[in-house]
Amino acid sequence: VELLKEKIRQEGRVIGEDILKVDSFLNHQIDPVLMLEVGREFARRFDGTGITKVLTVEASGIAVALMTGLSLRVPVVFAKKKQPSTMDGDTYCGRVRSFTKEEVVEIVVAGSYLGADDRVLIIDDFLASGEAARGLIKIVRQAGATLVGIGTVIEKVFQSGGDALREQGIRVEALVQIGSLSGGQIEFLN
Ligand code: 5GP
Repeated sequence: VELLKEKIRQEGRVIGEDILKVDSFLNHQIDPVLMLEVGREFARRFDGTGITKVLTVEASGIAVALMTGLSLRVPVVFAKKKQPSTMDGDTYCGRVRSFTKEEVVEIVVAGSYLGADDRVLIIDDFLASGEAARGLIKIVRQAGATLVGIGTVIEKVFQSGGDALREQGIRVEALVQIGSLSGGQIEFLN
C-alpha cells in the first residue's frame, strides 16, 4: 500500500477536479511487479472467504484481476464491453455508464463462465461512482452466484460509490483511498 501511494504521489496526474491519471503503471503502461503485489494484497485481505472466481471488466481491470486470480489460484473472468459474435448461448448483461469516457456501455459475460456455485470477488482499478461495480454485481446476481466482495486499487471516496455499496452490506476493500483531488492536490485518507 505504501509502495502504491508513493507511485501515485510521484507519477499520478490530476485531470480537472476529479480524474486521476495513472497511465505510467496502471492504465496504459503496466507495472507487473507492482500489480503482483496488489494481487497478493487482495488475496491476503480476502483469505479464507472461499472465492472461486475473480470478475472484472475490460480493459483496465484485467491486469489487477489477473494478479489477484494468480495469488488466489482461481480463474479470472472479464466482462466484455460489447457482445462479440463468437459469444453464443446464455449471457449475463449489465449496463455501465463510463466515468472517463462519458458513454453508456453494455457489459456481457458468457453463461458458461459464471454459475450458481461460484463465490465471486469483483476487482477493478478505480472505484468512483460505483457504476462499473453495480453492472458487475448485476451479472453476479443473474448468474445466481455469491458476491464475496469488491476490491479496488484506488477508491475516490469523494464520489461516494464505495460507501453506497458498503451501505448495502457489501464488503469493499480499497488499497488506497483518495479524499479529494481538488486544486490538483492528491489527498490520501488511509
Ligand atoms: P465508476 O463506475 O465507479 O464511476 O468508475 C470506475 C471506472 O471508471 C473504473 O473502471 C475506471 O476505469 C474508471 N475511472 C473512474 N475514475 C477514474 C480516474 O480517476 N482515473 C482513471 N484512470 N479511471 C477512472
